[in-house]
Amino acid sequence: MSKRRYDGTLLLAVMAELGQGRIESGFIHDKSGKLLMDGFCDGKRVAVSEIIQTVDTICHELLHRRFPHWSEPYIRNRTTYLLRRMTEAQIQAVYDEFQRRAVKRKSIMFPE
Ligand SMILES: [Zn+2]
Repeated sequence: MSKRRYDGTLLLAVMAELGQGRIESGFIHDKSGKLLMDGFCDGKRVAVSEIIQTVDTICHELLHRRFPHWSEPYIRNRTTYLLRRMTEAQIQAVYDEFQRRAVKRKSIMFPE
């Protein structure tokens, strides 16, 4: 694996913050009930939409396989379209099915 030399300062900062805790993972809603896709930091707490992030990637890659002629931008467009219309229960169901079906490997070679 080729990586640029890096002194680790920024990673150390991230790990120090990770060690502070006050991190949450779950479905994130705004006041109107709209589901947020990424995460947030309110200065104290950090929250990550872990399941949605994973399901976004799953849907994106599965759409590539199902519609190999679709362009990358169109796949992104359709993935966002789909995710914004899925209920929490549907997102959770895709995530659960992924957890059941995915072969977990330590390392996967990216195809040339
Ligand atoms: Zn893609």
